[in-house]
Amino acid sequence: MSRAVCGRFAPSPTGPLHAGSLVAAVASWLDARAHGGRWLVRIEDVDTPRCDASVARAILQQLHQCGLVSDDVELWQSQRGDVYQAALDSLRAAGRVFDCACSRSDIAAARRALGDAVDQGQVPQRFAELVYPGTCRSGLHGRPARAVRFRVDAGVVRWHDRRAGAQRQDVAREVGDFVLKRADGLWAYQLAVVVDDAAQGITHVVRGQDLADNTARQVLLQRALGLPTPLYLHTPLVLAADGHKLSKQNGARPLDLSNPVAALQAAGQVLGLPSLAAGSAQDWLLQAVGHWSASLGQ
Ligand code: GLU
Repeated sequence: MSRAVCGRFAPSPTGPLHAGSLVAAVASWLDARAHGGRWLVRIEDVDTPRCDASVARAILQQLHQCGLVSDDVELWQSQRGDVYQAALDSLRAAGRVFDCACSRSDIAAARRALGDAVDQGQVPQRFAELVYPGTCRSGLHGRPARAVRFRVDAGVVRWHDRRAGAQRQDVAREVGDFVLKRADGLWAYQLAVVVDDAAQGITHVVRGQDLADNTARQVLLQRALGLPTPLYLHTPLVLAADGHKLSKQNGARPLDLSNPVAALQAAGQVLGLPSLAAGSAQDWLLQAVGHWSASLGQ
């Protein structure tokens, strides 16, 4: 039996919406509606020191001005520690996680050791730069536990992107055992996003291209937790004047919503939609759904 289509927009409230994040919001909304599905908003505020409830409320207000309103009450990840703990417990019971005592400098030192091997041509450069070296896989050896990591088995993870097509990542070699619970006690994005996509019944994930390389890790977690894998579509990024991805970090200005239709129009342009003569945000969205559906061949 096929599940009812459900999309979502999952902003981290570290700053107000900018032109780049509006693209993901609009694309996820259009895609859900074009499939006759629901659209939910989730506030990804697991990184509590960096997040702010007033920023989250401002984002919801900005979305509202653009006619984008969640079909159910918003889920706030900061309220869901018990659910993430239950998922972690089940992974632990299945032997899929291990405690890690390594500090950043321990990992850096281990990487330097790998770097020596790189110089000798034994380990690919990328491997040495990014991968957790597996130090605590065999136990803590008397050191205090700090983080909890997912044990990544060897092998290539294959997944499909609806825009870019077949994707593959050797997570063990390119990322290594990744963190599910951080040394500061906070939940990692990878665990929270997988648990919540399943809890909210998300079937169609539409988000920015910058998040694409998290997908293989999320697929591994879904399999380990016995959860379904949604369909994935990663949208083009809005680039800043310097050619880098527009982000809160490189000073993207908050969206000017004095004219929501103009903001939607700009987002639509990034998504390859034609310019639409619309009198209101709702009118623009209605027309844009028609174009999105046509692009899906519906
Ligand atoms: N919270 C993430 C962000 O704002 C998005 C996560 C996702 O869509 O999977 O970048």
